[in-house]
Parts: sequence; C-alpha cells; structure tokens
Amino acid sequence: TKFEHCKLPPKMADNLQQIGYLKPTEIQMQVIPATLVGRDILASAQTGSGKTAAFLIPIIIHAWAISQFREGKGGPYAIIMAPTRELCSQIEELAKKMITGLQNMKTALIVGGIPISNQVHRLKKGVQIVIATPGRLLGIMNQYEELMTNIRMIVIDEVDMMFKMGFEKQVTEIMDKINSSPNTHLQILMFSATIPDNIKKHAKTLLHDHIRITV
Ligand code: AMP
Repeated sequence: TKFEHCKLPPKMADNLQQIGYLKPTEIQMQVIPATLVGRDILASAQTGSGKTAAFLIPIIIHAWAISQFREGKGGPYAIIMAPTRELCSQIEELAKKMITGLQNMKTALIVGGIPISNQVHRLKKGVQIVIATPGRLLGIMNQYEELMTNIRMIVIDEVDMMFKMGFEKQVTEIMDKINSSPNTHLQILMFSATIPDNIKKHAKTLLHDHIRITV
C-alpha cells in the first residue's frame, strides 16, 4: 500500500515523501479510506501510532477539494480539537508541512496564550483548517458565531486526556453549537488512547453509524 493510491492534491505526495512518510502505518491504513468515504470513526490509538497523519491526510484532501470551488473563502471546513497548546501546535506543524505549496490552504492555531484578536483576524482572512483547544475555541465561537458556519469535519483527539482535564462540558457545547447551524452534515472522528464507558456514551450520541478502529 502506498499513499499515491489515494487521490492526493498535487504536491501533497511530494510533501509526504519529504517528511519521510513513504507508506501508511496500520492506523493510517484503517482510518484514511474509511474517512475518505465519509464514515464517522471512534479509534483507540496511542501516540506513536501515526494517528496525527491518519486524520490530517483525509482532512486536507477534503478541505482542499472544497476550497478549490471557493477560492479560499468560506472556510474553515474542519476543526481539530486537542487538549493542550503543545499538542495543537505539533498538529499544526505537521499540517503545514503537508500543505506546503497547495493553493488556498491555510491553518489557524486557536489556543490560549495568543491574543484572541489575532486569531479572529486570521479566521476572517480565510483559513480551511482550524486546530484548537476547546476553551479558546468555545470563547471565539461564543463571540463570533459567523466564523464557524461551514464546518464539515471534526476531529476530537486524545479524548480521554481531554475529559480528564475537565473539557467534557466545553466539547459538548462546541458540538451542540456546530450541529445547530443549518445545512450541517458533520463527519466526526474521535481518537483516544483508552475508551472508557463515558467516552463510549459520547460516541453513541455524537457519531452516526461509526466505525470502531483499534490498533
Ligand atoms: P503520532 O502517533 O501521530 O504522534 O506519530 C508518531 C510518529 O510517527 C511521528 O514521529 C510521525 O512523524 C511518524 N509517522 C507517522 N506516520 C508515518 C508514516 N506513514 N511513515 C513514517 N513515519 C510516520
């Protein structure tokens, strides 16, 4: 199996090669095709499995496809939520490497510790993919509802850590808000090292007919 077997945007195959991703890892082999056909996913995967690229690759493929019809406007189309600033900036760093040279593709890092005004400015200028911690994301969504009305895909990464850190309520609120905007057909991917009962419960209410993946 090779990455070239997916329909990658131009330059993306080169970018993957550049970062040394020559063939998909086990989790990528399971998550990427299922996501590309639109399925919701609950995956138990540890850090080190290659889970970041497993969600970034299909998200970039989707967001790029949509943005080609809209000349960079109308986004963001995808939100990736992770529990800490550090995790979010690692995810953004990898995303940036993957989208190098792709037209109409930009990311925004929405985390605490950076002035909200800068983040709002960047969102207004037009980005396709948002990487965010739940607290700051909710803060922005409460003040600027109009900025997040076109979301098609959501990743909730490290769900168990997220809930241990007390973000369960914020995540639920974010999902409610996004689900309540008109014309929403959301695809949701949840990643967690462990899947205790409360996460299974959330998955049951949030996800539609999801695929369960374990590596
Ligand atoms: P992650 O589980 O996303 O934190 O990734 C673990 C490590 O595996 C990171 O150093 C990645 O850069 C690397 N990695 C992910 N996917 C691949 C791949 N397909 N080929 C080679 N290395 C990879």
